[in-house]
Amino acid sequence: MKKYARETQCIQSGYKPKNGEPRILPIFQSTTYKYDDADEVGKLFDLEAAGHMYSRISNPTVEAFENKIAEMEGGVGALATSSGQAATLISVLTICNAGEHLLAMSNLYGGTFTLFTSTLKKMGIEVTFVDHRADEKEIQSQIKLNTKLIFGETIGNPGVDVLDIERIAKIAHDNKIPLVVDNTFATPYLCRPFEFGADIITHSTTKYIDGHATSVGGIIVDSGKFDWKSSKKFPHLTQADPSYHGISYTEKFGEAAYITKARVAFLRDMGSTMSPFNAFLTNLGVETLALRMQRHSSNALAAAKFLENHPNVSWVNYPLLESSQSYELAKKYLSEGASGIISFGVKGGVESGKKFINNLKLASLVVHVGDIRTHVLHPASMTHRQLSQDQQLQAGIKPDMIRLSVGIENIDDILQDLDQALKA
Ligand SMILES: *Cc1c(COP(=O)(O)O)cnc(C)c1O
Repeated sequence: MKKYARETQCIQSGYKPKNGEPRILPIFQSTTYKYDDADEVGKLFDLEAAGHMYSRISNPTVEAFENKIAEMEGGVGALATSSGQAATLISVLTICNAGEHLLAMSNLYGGTFTLFTSTLKKMGIEVTFVDHRADEKEIQSQIKLNTKLIFGETIGNPGVDVLDIERIAKIAHDNKIPLVVDNTFATPYLCRPFEFGADIITHSTTKYIDGHATSVGGIIVDSGKFDWKSSKKFPHLTQADPSYHGISYTEKFGEAAYITKARVAFLRDMGSTMSPFNAFLTNLGVETLALRMQRHSSNALAAAKFLENHPNVSWVNYPLLESSQSYELAKKYLSEGASGIISFGVKGGVESGKKFINNLKLASLVVHVGDIRTHVLHPASMTHRQLSQDQQLQAGIKPDMIRLSVGIENIDDILQDLDQALKA
């Protein structure tokens, strides 16, 4: 049978009720699972049989959500986590050990930046940052013998520049290492990075995937396409794991080696599990993802054009504005819409920007993006406050940058609110 279209997958993928079972995904609020036979439980522990044994590692409600996102991204499996940060951390630890290195694009989300520069460093994993627009030679020159992956964001948060996934994936693959892409802002509705060569995808599901600002969460998706055996760089995936009585993930799980190890080694040990209730809410959110992303994208494009022509606005960046540096890439990777985030500056700099934010009536000031309501934020003094001014500039954050997350309210109301606050 033909694969369903994305709009249909949002609704129909994941949970598949059998005869007489509830039509809506049930919340299996249970830590544990009953078995009749001691040998059966032994087999679960040995990973000889599939099944749930303890909800830190897997749960039927969470699993249905994982399967839906895996199908939407076109992957072989997914692992939901308690937050986007946990997804990023586990996505890296499943590949990198202490003493190893990863190459990251410099325009990342502030939380990812501090995770990489502070916590990973303490764990002995070194990170180098490179501009995602740098030419191949420069990127190549940053890849060392112990570099184990490249990390980037489809649409950078908050600079909203678009990653040339195909180009960076090729550089990664020439070096026999995977490309990990944080696809939070684009969502699998607007862009599917695996189609362009990415190997692993992460999301903060807290944003558009939930979409209603109810649940913090994350997910990792495995394309199943990266060949961990193509070099000697990934012995912890290809050779015996003593913490799992000597199994080799690639031998035992084939194309699902990476995502299985992420679950049975790291989710097991770190316990950053998504709760069944959050999986239920987030799955409910995904059911309307297609409609929401269409409206977020059309509202944001209209708001970006409005801001571009406003006398009190000094600059605007939105991927599908013709004036955007990312316009050509956006037409390729985000042809149906460029999501709901705009960055712009108000004439008069930081002080005028704050005044603008304080005068908004419909749009609220919250530390969040990507839900149905229109929000604003000042990255330099909020989400990226822990970065030095140099680091902020490197991440594409100007002191006067305002990040506008355009909601799905009526566009005329949004524009009117922006206009009155800009005039104030
Ligand atoms: C918010 C965000 C994260 C972190 O996710 P949490 O759910 O807040 O832990 C990671 N990447 C991007 C692009 C984000 O916007």
